[in-house]
Amino acid sequence: MEKVILVLNAGSSSLKFSLFALPAAGEMRPLAVGQVEGLGTAPRLKAKDGQGEVIADTRWSTAEVANPAQALQEIIGLLRSRFQENELAGVGHRVVHGGPDYSAPLLISAEALEKLDTFVPLAPLHQPHNLAAIRAVQQARPELAQVACFDTAFHRTQSMIADLYGLPYEYYERGIRRYGFHGLSYEYIAATLPAVAPEIANGRVVVAHLGSGASMCAIHNGRSVGSSMGFTALDGLMMGTRPGNMDPGIVLYLLQQEGMSAKQIEDLLYKRSGLLGLSGIGNDMRVLEASDSPRARLAIDLFTYRIARELGGLAAVLGGLDALVFTAGIGENSARIRQLVCEKARWLGVELDEAANDQNGSRISSADSRVSVWVVPTNEELMIARHTRKLLGL
Ligand code: AMP
Repeated sequence: MEKVILVLNAGSSSLKFSLFALPAAGEMRPLAVGQVEGLGTAPRLKAKDGQGEVIADTRWSTAEVANPAQALQEIIGLLRSRFQENELAGVGHRVVHGGPDYSAPLLISAEALEKLDTFVPLAPLHQPHNLAAIRAVQQARPELAQVACFDTAFHRTQSMIADLYGLPYEYYERGIRRYGFHGLSYEYIAATLPAVAPEIANGRVVVAHLGSGASMCAIHNGRSVGSSMGFTALDGLMMGTRPGNMDPGIVLYLLQQEGMSAKQIEDLLYKRSGLLGLSGIGNDMRVLEASDSPRARLAIDLFTYRIARELGGLAAVLGGLDALVFTAGIGENSARIRQLVCEKARWLGVELDEAANDQNGSRISSADSRVSVWVVPTNEELMIARHTRKLLGL
């Protein structure tokens, strides 16, 4: 039986999965990709095979599929019936937080899971879902080896100076430091550059991961030296529904003067701000680009302004800039956003090739641009599958 790896990415209301075959030579390819979405509201399993053909589209009531464990049962059931000739050899998970110490993926054991539980307060909206998925697999298939791949791990190469906040030192020791996120995406890009852009792979590169969550990372010689996200995934760039970097005094003001509760502020900062809150229209960049509303324009202008501003900061961290890489939903697909950012980065030596930019890359800067600019699609699931395969010796 041919062995396969299942990759799981558990969110607050969805469980995404990819099933990877393990060829003896060459890159792993997904046999199936899908998700159970709408957990808690309108559960629905959607899945496609490796050729993009729909292999499942099923809806349930919230009573039938109530939680991630039941969603996982449905996914396993589907994969069992579709891929009877394959043997599931391991499961890789995206886990948002690996705390201050984990700089590499981790084989799950009872002790490891206990340790990961201690990071729940650091990422209360994400970590519990990630760990629930691990426990659900343990329940359904206790014999399966599981691997946790952390969104923070890639950034553990950063210096202490990059990690510190200007709070009393004991807060750093208590874990209040910059962790950085989207690490699996940045690690994938860093691993891909030697093949797609060898001339910059060992240089000073800023990667802009612009999706519904958005952040930027300064990479030198393939290692993370700075990132825009900090203690939580709220920091840095403005995002789909998050404001990004803002004066912490605003939180105090909302608490003390406006009488908002911590829960209300959390909701404001995670779900009602950013592109959605500013535009009043939505958080989907395609919708904002198509809109002629002045507030949609304002949201786009602030989005690109903040990226350009962060780019300047990260170029300073790197001591100069050789290349800028765009990735994730917006970064890979929006020529307009890339153009607006590159216009604001002309002072750094960025010159766009408009035709290449309109075609989404891969090199989108002009031949004599001092800083080269690239579009490189990210693949966090493949990064997790690679880690899982390696750690399990498959
Ligand atoms: P991600 O989180 O990486 O899946 O990215 C999701 C974001 O990518 C959403 O805000 C989408 O609106 C955005 N996106 C996807 N395709 C496009 C496109 N063609 N133009 C602009 N934004 C896009």
